[in-house]
This record gives sequence, C-alpha cells and structure tokens, in this order.
Amino acid sequence: MNAEGYSGDHGKHLIDADGSPRPFQDLRSWLLRLDQTGRLAVIRSGAKLKFEIAAIANCLDGRKASVFPQPDSHDGIVVSGVLSDRRWMAEALGLESGELLGRFIHASINPMRWVEVTDAPCQQTVHRDPDLADVLPIPTHNEHDSGAYITAGLLVVRNPRSGKQNVSIHRLQVSGRNLLGALLLPRHTLAFQEMAEADGQDLDVAIVIGAGPAALLASQAIAPIDQDELEIAGALTGTPLRVVKCMNSELRVPADAEFVIEGRFLAGMREPEGPFGEFPQYYGERANRHVIKVDLITSRRAPVFHTIVGGGLEHLLLGGIPREATILADLRRNFPDVRDVHLSLGGVCRYHLYVRLKKRFEGEAKNLIMAALAAHYDIKHVVVVDEDVNIYNPTEVEWAVATRFQADRDMVMIPGSLGSKLDPSTDDGIGAKLGFDATVPLAASPMRFKRICVPGQQEVDLDAVILRETCLDAVLNEAASQ
Ligand code: MN
Repeated sequence: MNAEGYSGDHGKHLIDADGSPRPFQDLRSWLLRLDQTGRLAVIRSGAKLKFEIAAIANCLDGRKASVFPQPDSHDGIVVSGVLSDRRWMAEALGLESGELLGRFIHASINPMRWVEVTDAPCQQTVHRDPDLADVLPIPTHNEHDSGAYITAGLLVVRNPRSGKQNVSIHRLQVSGRNLLGALLLPRHTLAFQEMAEADGQDLDVAIVIGAGPAALLASQAIAPIDQDELEIAGALTGTPLRVVKCMNSELRVPADAEFVIEGRFLAGMREPEGPFGEFPQYYGERANRHVIKVDLITSRRAPVFHTIVGGGLEHLLLGGIPREATILADLRRNFPDVRDVHLSLGGVCRYHLYVRLKKRFEGEAKNLIMAALAAHYDIKHVVVVDEDVNIYNPTEVEWAVATRFQADRDMVMIPGSLGSKLDPSTDDGIGAKLGFDATVPLAASPMRFKRICVPGQQEVDLDAVILRETCLDAVLNEAASQ
C-alpha cells in the first residue's frame, strides 16, 4: 500500500543536528528531546498526587510535558503530557506531521517481529509481593474519580489458544494493596479473558508503564485479533522492538520500559470500579468489573511513572491518530479517492469523523458514510466534504455543512446501532448514527459553488509590503502635502 504522505524512508535512522537519534526508542530519550527543545516543565518537588499533578499537567496540556519529582514525598518521578500534540507524535517517530498516518498504515500492514533480550532495563529492580501505592506514585486525576488510577499502562495478555499477544490501554483503579480494577471494553483483551475464564483459568497479564512513543501509539491500533501490537510498534520505528520475557509468565514486554506490573485476571471475580473521568469529558460509571491480582513489579533504577490525565489532549490524541490511520486504510480499500480523514477534537477524537473525498460519482458520499459509520463503533457522526475543504479546521467543515448540505437530501440516519458506552446520550451504547453529505453535486454549474478568492493573496509577503518605520500620521501628512 502506498498511502498518501508516506515518505518511503521506512527504517532509515536519522540523526538530528543536536546529535539525538530518531525515532526515539524509549520514553527517556524522548523526554530528553522535549527538555532540550523547551517543551518540558520540571515542577517543584512535592506536588500532591491527588489532583495537583493532574491540575498542573492540564494547565500545560499541549504546550509542555511536565515532570513531577518526589510527589507527596514519594521517591518516584511522575511525567505527563509527553505525546499531547500531533506534531510531537510524528517527531517522536522521526517523521513530519503529514507522514504520520501513512507510516501508521504501513506499520499496521507490515508489522515487524520483536527481538528478545535477556538483560532488560525494565527488570533492573524487582519488587516481590508489592504494595502498589508504595512502589508506584499513582495520581488521582479528576474530581469524582473513585481514587488513584494507572492510566498509561500498556496491558499485555496472550490468547490462551493461539499464544498471540494483545496490547491495549485500560483504565486501572487501585482497589487494594495488590489489586487493580480494570474496565475491559468488548475487544481483544476481553475476548482472551473470557476464553481463560471459560476454562476456569486466571489470565496472566503484564502492565507496562513508561514504554516508548511507538509502543504507546501502536497499542491504540485497531488491529485484527491475534496481531501483537508490539510488532506494529517495531514497524513504526523501523527497528524491531526489544522485548523481555516476564519473570512470572510467558508474556513479552518492551525491555526498555520504566515499570512492568505482573499479575493475573482473577477468573470469576468482579468488584466495583469507577467512576473515572473519561475522554468524552464525562465520568465512566461505577460497576462490577474485572479484577487483577498483582504478584510483582519490576522497574528500571530511578524509574519514571507516566500518567495520562483522563480527558486531556494526550488521552484524546493517543486514541485518535491510530484510529484515523486504520479508518483511512479501511475506507480506501473501497473508496480509493478518499484523500484524508480526521477525528476532530470537538468529537473527542472518537465520535466525529471528517472525510475529504474527490467525488467521482453521484451518491458515492452516501456509500462512504455507511462504510465510515461501520469502521468503528465509536464513530457517531460522519461529514464527507470535497477536496477543497481543510478537514483539520473545524470552521471549514462547518462552512461546508452550512453551504453544501440539505438535511432532506444529504442526511443519512441509522437508529438503534451500537455506539460508545461512554457517550452519555446513548442508551448503554445503543444510539443513532448520522451522516452528512456536504459535497457539491457533480452536475452543479461551476459558478454556483465557486469559492471566492482574491487573486494574489496566497503569494503576499507581508514582511515585504508592510512599512516598518512609519505611522498613520506620516501617511496623512504626506497626503495633505500633495
Ligand atoms: Mn488487539
């Protein structure tokens, strides 16, 4: 697949002018890069784990990552906001922004097998029978969260039948000294857990905190079941990911991560979990959910604990960009003239999909709407626009709807379909899908939808045309003296 924007430099290792290699293979090298380029705020030590870390991180969201040494006199270090900008994500992989989706599509189709090592930084320190709150500086984020949550943990499990791994992020409530409550949505982790539970077995789990940017992004790929997302991580950077075998299980985890929690989903066990502030900017409700018993924690020396503030940009974008890539590849199989897709920030990078299409046939946009709504259950509203609309600018998309769309003719509505359970307007996830065909009819006369344009505006060089050392007085005096 030769996706638009893919540079073809797959596997090339670039060195920046300042000597930093890129892509950045682990969290530390990326944090150093952010620090060297003025994008890392080091906060005074002793910030409170409860709310204060999240409050400061939210204030810096999208502008700077934040580092919190010794929170609450814990001797650990917390970081947040490390991938809270689309351009940063591209940069962390050694790419330009426009190359990000193309690279992601390429990596999803051409995963790269990991390479196993035995001497791993993530196993430098071993805590047996650990108390989670002692070993890990775990923040409490939003006002009504039930307590401290691990939010940036890559949860690794194996298919009990095929042995293939799955990697995904789940919210993990600290429920006791060695217990975590987990929300499993109806995808791969749940499928594997149900297989084990049907046989009366616990399911081994590893939770990786402080993995590199590629593993974080890859964990959000909408990959087929039995596709190990760690292989997508390798393909994203063009280098096989270094993994190590867990101490208590057959699971393989990123060797250069900061922490690895090893434990088991307890078969047949459910306990209350939630509420928790989620990406739609509402609380996910409290209910009986799966329970993980923690057996041991390994870490680097002086490890860095990554936390993602629920509902912040890092949360939204980490889910959004891999989804865009998967959806774009999916749609292009049947609609090769789809130019671009975007999950908008206002749609919490999940619910609103904008599609840019070079329309060739009347009615094509409606078929595209149906395909897009089926691409992922989270997608609720789809807007299809023509090539001249910048889908990364929500004002432009609104303009296209305002001037190219008629509800009685251009709207597609499907009631009673499966949506996001976290959308509070649905009935436990059941809701309506809506599509907007905001494309211009192919038969329209050219002037009817001709976008206004001032000739030469694009080429104006303001620095060259604006007088610097003058003021209005001088202009008026000059005119008066004529
Ligand atoms: Mn998966």
